[in-house]
Amino acid sequence: TGNIHGKTVVVTAAGQGIGRASALAFAAAGAKVWATDINDAALSTLDGEANVQTAHLDVLNAAAVTAFFEKIGAVDVLFNCAGFVHAGSVLDMPDSDLDFAFDLNVRAMVRTIKAVLPGMLERGDGTIINMASIASSTKGVPNRAAYGITKAAVIGLTKSVAADYVAQGIRCNAICPGTVESPSLESRMRAQGNYEEARAAFIARQPMGRLGTPEEIADLAVYLAGATYTTGQAVGIDGGWGI
Ligand code: NAD
Repeated sequence: TGNIHGKTVVVTAAGQGIGRASALAFAAAGAKVWATDINDAALSTLDGEANVQTAHLDVLNAAAVTAFFEKIGAVDVLFNCAGFVHAGSVLDMPDSDLDFAFDLNVRAMVRTIKAVLPGMLERGDGTIINMASIASSTKGVPNRAAYGITKAAVIGLTKSVAADYVAQGIRCNAICPGTVESPSLESRMRAQGNYEEARAAFIARQPMGRLGTPEEIADLAVYLAGATYTTGQAVGIDGGWGI
């Protein structure tokens, strides 16, 4: 794989969970990391980490996205990690919920991609990694209608960017995790009332009998950043859920 040492990496939603673990993994691999999030308190837990700079960035705010990427200059690797889990079937999904899920899970990625692509094309080099999920076009999951719809769109976005720019030095891949231990998964388990039962149910759907860790997903993000012959892939990392 290619060396990402010294490369500039931007990670969205890097305050906690997979994004945070990825920011640290990229930094450990010698990249210069911009860890961005809307949760400044969460971002501050990265203060003092070598090779990591933090910045407040709301990926729903188009003007803020443009201004941020103008400010920081050349980006070698963009990891679009921001995303939100909507719970419910298609009947539990008002238009406004689907709009919000699309805005955060899909359009935000389009925004950041549009901000970095021209520079990447100028340099003839760049890698984009988008956070999808096994719950997408890969697998139907109960009570994940808006989530599955939007994460499927992430895979479509990934493949279209990969196809359009494959001959110009740009690679674009998606990561499709199964169930991963993260602060928002914790909240989803608590929200279900019986925490132990909810946790057991999440574990039961993972054939390996355990949840994934943010660090396991972060390793794949670092791998894909340097995987010089891989593009347009939706890579599963799901403890066997998608078998
Ligand atoms: P998380 O849900 O615990 O944290 C999400 C982070 O996103 C938070 O720090 C939050 O402040 C930030 N965020 C929210 N809105 C934002 C915005 N508008 N702009 C910038 N940042 C914003 O983290 P996680 O569970 O590791 O999920 C990260 C990604 O991985 C998401 O896209 C999620 O869909 C995906 N994913 C997670 C799992 C899982 O089981 N945890 C599985 C598959 C895919």
